Amino acid sequence: MAEKDELQQPMNQEHSEHIHKDSRIPWNQYFMVQALLLSLRSTCERLSVGATLVRNNRIIAGGYNGSVSGDVHCLDEGCYVVDDHCVRTIHAEMNAILQCAKLGIPTDGSVIYVTHFPCLSCTKMLLQAGVKKIYYYQDYRNDPYAERLFKQVGVTVEQVTLDEKYFQEFFAKLFHPAD
Ligand SMILES: [Zn+2]
Ligand SMILES: [Zn+2]
Repeated sequence: MAEKDELQQPMNQEHSEHIHKDSRIPWNQYFMVQALLLSLRSTCERLSVGATLVRNNRIIAGGYNGSVSGDVHCLDEGCYVVDDHCVRTIHAEMNAILQCAKLGIPTDGSVIYVTHFPCLSCTKMLLQAGVKKIYYYQDYRNDPYAERLFKQVGVTVEQVTLDEKYFQEFFAKLFHPAD
């Protein structure tokens, strides 16, 4: 009997640690959901993109796709479409990098969380700014040259999926705090 108890104790401890670890949102989902929230501020009708730039597990900048400050918004005036692309907006990733440029924040060695697979221009910009890893939420017109560039320079690209269990209680409380 004593032998059995000894065996059970460490198992129980392991089990409780597992539950504890499991209830806390992982870093990649934590940052991705913030990129998704930023996308809600997008001013373009065609696509809502958000990006969170992270260095040493801290958010250093965020962005969404929108017009140059001072220009009109696609939401008010309609998109400015050339060759099936809206050319009015600055992409979310670029807005995040430019925020760092404007404020003098180093981007070397950072990672980015972006709601959509980056376009070719953003891919080149992110690589040149020293971004070391790309986390994205959904595929979007994935450019083969962008995919090749990531491989060639050794920058990993990882798709992040959100696990509903981390958000159910949060959203329930958010909209029905009294329940
Ligand atoms: Zn637009
Ligand atoms: Zn882009």
